[in-house]
Amino acid sequence: MTVVPRTALTIAGSDSGGGAGVQADLRTFFANGVHGLVALTAVTVQNSMGVLGFTEIPADVVTAQIKAVAGDMGVHAAKTGMLATAEIIRAVAKTLGEVHIGRGTRTPFVVDPVAASMTGHALLREEALEAIRTELFPLATLVTPNLDEVRLLTGITVTGAATRRAAAEALLEFGPDWVLVKGGHLQDTDTCVDLLYDGTELIELSGERIATENTHGGGDTMASAITSSLAKGADVPTAVEQAKRFIERCVAESYPLGAGVGPVSPFWRLAD
Ligand code: PLP
Repeated sequence: MTVVPRTALTIAGSDSGGGAGVQADLRTFFANGVHGLVALTAVTVQNSMGVLGFTEIPADVVTAQIKAVAGDMGVHAAKTGMLATAEIIRAVAKTLGEVHIGRGTRTPFVVDPVAASMTGHALLREEALEAIRTELFPLATLVTPNLDEVRLLTGITVTGAATRRAAAEALLEFGPDWVLVKGGHLQDTDTCVDLLYDGTELIELSGERIATENTHGGGDTMASAITSSLAKGADVPTAVEQAKRFIERCVAESYPLGAGVGPVSPFWRLAD
């Protein structure tokens, strides 16, 4: 019997090392039984040691990719990762409105506000942060910043429960339905607490900290796992809970590849 899977669209950059960016998104979509669609925004040159540089795709080509797949194949959920420039962000926001993706439509939209690689290389031109806040956040069903991105977006340094909540409230002011403040980068605790908040429901998701150096692509994998569950019809709290359990295994089964930081791995799902 022919089974047509649900579809998820990633609007993001390519990682030549295959561990982050659209490569992480596609392998996560695949591992979760979802057909991945791609609007490529940038081509990065990188390996396990870091990002050597990137070239962005012209904004009209990003727009054309989104329209081509949305009009023909249909999109059950979408996410953004590396968007590179304010011009691309503006084009993505306008196009998503035109193809009815995002808040207020039936197609959930996750914004992972990627600003830099773990190795500290900028993946977003400086002026573009403001565009993420003003153009994309109001369209988002969910935004998924890590603690560095929280600080860049709100000026708040998260050090514990009170600042985590203050940051979530500040991020909600920019207009998304839900905010997930990811606690993985807070190094001085044994647990990783993520806070999911929509202004009324406050959900803490805690998980054990897993000792590994190989966490490349972790943020992308988490956001695309959430997007996969949303594409399959889960509500936001369920999708985030499922993704949290998925990423924990991906981090536990991460592997060294190259001389630097290796990738998190969704391969366990195939073995299962
Ligand atoms: N390269 C691309 C294309 C990405 O989208 C990202 C993160 O979203 C990265 C690199 C950075 O990955 P990491 O934070 O694991 O270094």
